[in-house]
Amino acid sequence: MEQLHALVGVSKGGGSGHANALWPYRELNVDALFHSGWHPVAFQEFVLKIHQRCNLNCDYCYVYRMADQSWRVRPVTMSQPVWTAAAHRIAEHAQRHGLSEVQVILHGGEPLLAGIERIVNIVTGVRAAIPAGTTVNLAMQTNGVLLDQSTLRLLLEQGIHLGISLDGTQENHDLHRPHADGRGSYVEVDRAMRLLSAPEHRAAFSGILSTIDPTTDPIACYDALLAYQDRTLDPMPASDSLLSVDFLLPHANWSAPHPACVKATHPFGDWLVRLFDRWYDAPHQEIRIRFFEEIIHVVLGGSSRSENIGLAPATVAVIETDGAIEQVDALKSAYEGAAATGHSVFTDSFDEVLRHPGIVARQIGLEALSDQCRQCTLRDICGGGQYPHRYRAGSGFRNPSVYCADLARIITHIRNRVHADLRCRPAMA
Ligand code: SF4
Repeated sequence: MEQLHALVGVSKGGGSGHANALWPYRELNVDALFHSGWHPVAFQEFVLKIHQRCNLNCDYCYVYRMADQSWRVRPVTMSQPVWTAAAHRIAEHAQRHGLSEVQVILHGGEPLLAGIERIVNIVTGVRAAIPAGTTVNLAMQTNGVLLDQSTLRLLLEQGIHLGISLDGTQENHDLHRPHADGRGSYVEVDRAMRLLSAPEHRAAFSGILSTIDPTTDPIACYDALLAYQDRTLDPMPASDSLLSVDFLLPHANWSAPHPACVKATHPFGDWLVRLFDRWYDAPHQEIRIRFFEEIIHVVLGGSSRSENIGLAPATVAVIETDGAIEQVDALKSAYEGAAATGHSVFTDSFDEVLRHPGIVARQIGLEALSDQCRQCTLRDICGGGQYPHRYRAGSGFRNPSVYCADLARIITHIRNRVHADLRCRPAMA
């Protein structure tokens, strides 16, 4: 891949909507890259934005509260022609690349606002289109407010796995995830969590997404989430049946940094270090925290399995309610149109989208990193941070993460603790 440096040049497909991002839209020569023999990795995860509105008003939401406001002009719900075309494009891609499985994620806004009948129709349509030999794994990310017993039963009948967004303690959750009238949503989400935590539903529960507020107590947050584990399982369950939590950095970039990072050097790193020590020092594993597990996996010599850690290629495509095919939707935090590709399920195959400079830039690993990241000793673990967090108006996405200091703090801490444990291990006979 070293030859990529020779391939810097004018990229096609960027469009004027990406005028603020020299990298990759003006600086990555996609045609030359393909001519050099490089091949993209097929998409494996397809996010269907089945509803554009939400019944909550979360203060960090990248769809409604940040730079891109395209939700205002898109259809509110995904219509049958759109999901039918999307299903056939996914099937075409799976067949062309011989994919043994694909992930299809129902997303929003709040996907349950689409109504259970529409959801069942979408899932049925997708399953019918996908060729034999390709397994479809269906999932939904929901805020949980509308999840009642009968809705859950119907979703489970469709084989849909559910992830819930829950921000730790009631106080913190209600502060950041209120209804439009200011009422907190914790009570409703807690009810949904109790439903999903019941033994008969546990297998369909894929885990919790929890966005970090660095002004809160990480131990209180951990304990609040751990309570859902305690209700459901034996004291010493197998790792793969543990509650799984993803802790997320709120989306930010160099042109719109998080306020906490303006006041302190690495507030999120400090928060994560305290959380890690609480989790790592437990007498047995209590919950799964994928961010920490992935860092440990790479520290121990494994390859990264997630696009949020290390240099693994991104293989996610998003289909909007109007059929537009977009890049990962967290890019909406960067600038208006940042996630756009100019492609649609009505006119283009996913193979054409694989040539888009924004997609290519997320599949070339080390070569897409800034000089600072390329020279960083943590780069193979960190991977330069999440792609949307590298954005700076004018230069684009070839910068270290705006959370660089935080990432360095937590990764160094985990690496030191794991290495110290390895040194203490008795030598093998
Ligand atoms: S974002 Fe920072 S910690 Fe991560 S690879 Fe780049 S320089 Fe290193």
